[in-house]
Amino acid sequence: MMDLKGKKVLVVGLGKSGLAAALFLRRQGAQVTVSDIRSAEALAKELPALLDEGIMVESGGHGLLTFRRQDLIVVSPGVPLDTPELVQVKAFGLPVIGELELAARFLKGKILAITGSNGKTTTTALVGEILEASGLPTLVGGNIGVPVISLIDESKDDTWSVLEVSSFQLETTEQFHPAIAVILNITPDHLDRHGSFENYALAKERIFAAQTEKDFVVLNADNVRAAAAAARSAAPVYWFSVEHQVQVGAWIEDGTVRFRKAQDAETETIMPLSAIPLKGSHNVENVLAAVCATRLAGASAEAIRSAVEKFKAVEHRLEFVATLNGVEFYNDSKATNVDATAKAIAAFPKGVHLILGGKDKNSDYTQLTDLLRSRVRAVYTIGSAAPKIESHLRGVVSLHSCETLDRAVSAAATAAHPGDIVLLAPACSSFDQFENYEHRGRVFKELVNEWQSISGWPAGAERGAHS
Ligand code: ADP
Repeated sequence: MMDLKGKKVLVVGLGKSGLAAALFLRRQGAQVTVSDIRSAEALAKELPALLDEGIMVESGGHGLLTFRRQDLIVVSPGVPLDTPELVQVKAFGLPVIGELELAARFLKGKILAITGSNGKTTTTALVGEILEASGLPTLVGGNIGVPVISLIDESKDDTWSVLEVSSFQLETTEQFHPAIAVILNITPDHLDRHGSFENYALAKERIFAAQTEKDFVVLNADNVRAAAAAARSAAPVYWFSVEHQVQVGAWIEDGTVRFRKAQDAETETIMPLSAIPLKGSHNVENVLAAVCATRLAGASAEAIRSAVEKFKAVEHRLEFVATLNGVEFYNDSKATNVDATAKAIAAFPKGVHLILGGKDKNSDYTQLTDLLRSRVRAVYTIGSAAPKIESHLRGVVSLHSCETLDRAVSAAATAAHPGDIVLLAPACSSFDQFENYEHRGRVFKELVNEWQSISGWPAGAERGAHS
């Protein structure tokens, strides 16, 4: 633990975790300043709570002097590390850490951390529910929407803190030390911020940088880049695979989920595949990762099975919206990169009307070519990425430029026949037309409801078994 009393600490970026960090630091007796590039008006909601606590606030930009005057700098995950003021103070030798690192220094108990390009939130939520069903004291936080800092007060020596951690949070860790670290997959994402795929992959590998041979790492044997991380892990590696048996870890065999803790241990059958209520083989991967991590944490097979059976898709993750006139509508607004979109398409055998677009993240949409040819009837583009998407996919699939989500929903719904699927899985971030992916997903669901009243299509509760 670090002594923060009287220390001058600057929190850069006033998001949810920045706000929680500032208030925590103040309670620890630090002299806290917050700096955000947003204007005072934009920060109006957060300002009173900060000023009441005696926290200084710099808005509308960063002053280099504000940065130079500190003992410690805590950066929010949304703030790029190449922000000039940060680069300069780092050159002066000032410690720069993230909220995750700060919080982890104060958390009691053990950490089970989950990272990956896709599936983090789903797997984190599931792991939390399994550990709880096993009767283990469990807290869930991180990127999932609950700042890690806010778990500190509740944590005890026997607590498992299940943390969803992003590559941005991992970039600013030093001593962050999970007892169990999971890398679900590493596929291209955020190349606009990390510069290269390899930089991004190396940020993910920081999840196990402080581990020792007493800890565990769980890796996806089916994902080339995640599997390659094994070479740099000090902790023993456990594997999961939907494709083949693994030496130690979790896999699928004869329609059941299997787990083996040691090479010479007996293989356990955890549950039938049919007990997994989530759609798509990507969710089987998430379940296998959760099985492996929670068995290592001491969860029982019964607890795993009952928590998995009860588990519902997290909102905006391949979420079923409605069946209208035999057409099923799915909201996968959280598919903000090409791999997540590919997995979403793969969950349906054919007849997909796919809404793609938003803000491009330097992505390669040609990776969707084979899936589009075999399963997708038409693509409806929206947002600023549309011209690029259309140029990548011309000649592959029927393309409709819709510009906005409302036009895309009505075009797709009009073209769809009973038995078809209308799928929002945009492969882009949302910031050009929406506040965030949640907003985009909510608007999609409202548009589907409106479509029902406009079209007079009968609603059915039924949903097909596709995957
Ligand atoms: P994250 O928190 O990593 O963004 P989510 O659970 O929120 O992960 O899912 C993000 C998107 O990726 C959703 O569109 C979801 O359907 C898809 N997805 C979930 N798990 C996987 C996986 N293992 N591989 C690929 N895509 C996935």
